[in-house]
Amino acid sequence: MDSHTLIFRAHSSSRYSLAALVGVIETDHRLTEIAIEAPIEVSMNTIQKSVAKGPTILAHSVMSTQTDRIYKEVREVRERFENSVTIIGGGPHASARPMELLENGFDYVVIGEGEQTFPELLWHLMNDKDPIEINGVVGETTQDCPIPRDLAPVDIDAHPPFALGMNIVGPIEVTRGCPYSCKFCCTPFLTGGRVRNRSIDSVVHWLTQAVEKSGFDRTWFLSPNALSYGGRGRTVEEDRVEGLLKAVTKVEGLKEVFFGSFPSEVRPEFVTRPILEMMKEYVANKTLQIGLQSSSNRVLKLANRHHSVEEGLEAISAALDCDFIPHVDMIFGLPGETEKELHESIDLCYSLAEMGAKTHGHVFMPLPGSAYENEEPGRLDTESRKLLGELSRKKLLTGSWSTQESMAENLSSRKL
Ligand code: SF4
Repeated sequence: MDSHTLIFRAHSSSRYSLAALVGVIETDHRLTEIAIEAPIEVSMNTIQKSVAKGPTILAHSVMSTQTDRIYKEVREVRERFENSVTIIGGGPHASARPMELLENGFDYVVIGEGEQTFPELLWHLMNDKDPIEINGVVGETTQDCPIPRDLAPVDIDAHPPFALGMNIVGPIEVTRGCPYSCKFCCTPFLTGGRVRNRSIDSVVHWLTQAVEKSGFDRTWFLSPNALSYGGRGRTVEEDRVEGLLKAVTKVEGLKEVFFGSFPSEVRPEFVTRPILEMMKEYVANKTLQIGLQSSSNRVLKLANRHHSVEEGLEAISAALDCDFIPHVDMIFGLPGETEKELHESIDLCYSLAEMGAKTHGHVFMPLPGSAYENEEPGRLDTESRKLLGELSRKKLLTGSWSTQESMAENLSSRKL
């Protein structure tokens, strides 16, 4: 077997999945011969050196907002190195548009969760076997492309959450999958409606290792709805959340635990004063990330959000009463939103600021894989941009809303 090099094209938007995938590869005894590189910038020189040494695999995690840049890079690599580099794609956009990746120069695409499929694909490449025989890998000769829900769900406990060997660490994903079907979100398409939780034992195991090997002294968690940890996603699981927090705060050497703050989120109807009082006993975060999304019950209903504006405001009040600063996710320009409703959502951001909360603002993007993928992109009018800009300058609004408007247009134009 030739010694292979795997170059991960890292990007800030895919760093968490990179940490988990590198972790899986470095703990797979079949792949000990592979040399892994994950530089911030992959230059042609890096690839050239690797090609000179032996077979080279270049892996990209493809987000829908990154495709122009990635396809350009892939075309350049293809022109320069022809078939001496095998190019693999995975991630949200790859799962939703695998054929588009192949048309743009990728050799293979990993559909859905990568923990099992990706190492299997590497092993096949290292042993001159055809990766197309792997369920979840798509290539030039694939007849029927699977979609993520056709594939067996990964047991997240069976895999490391990050890569301690290469010291690529990040938040620990404690919950995967979501039973809700918000139409703007592609999580249900990508990871399914069945919720899987990383067990407390597994979280403690990896945190203990991270403290010992990487000098970790604080931790964050990834969950689409942190307060449902331990259950099936539809109910608050106070005992299980407390069990997790109690166990992780006992990990020796770990000084701070962040829970329910970015990059996690909580659904408003899960927020209660008792659970926040309990959390305060354990967590270091001063903020709570609450997904409200709109000030219009009509728009929330259209988006299949399954909670009301009133529940959102109640959650924000509860968080403030318990001394958390609510960071409230809002999406401007959701399908069906009228100009009046857009302005009311922005007015609400100003009211939130007066209450002591902050807004995390987004402009609606029709993401491939979401139920809204064929809808018009979110658009702001001049007045809305001005008002949001003012909030941003006062540091009462964060988020990528200002760049998402053009990203959303770009996504939409590529569907034509
Ligand atoms: S927005 Fe949150 S609650 Fe809704 S489907 Fe996505 S992950 Fe689930």
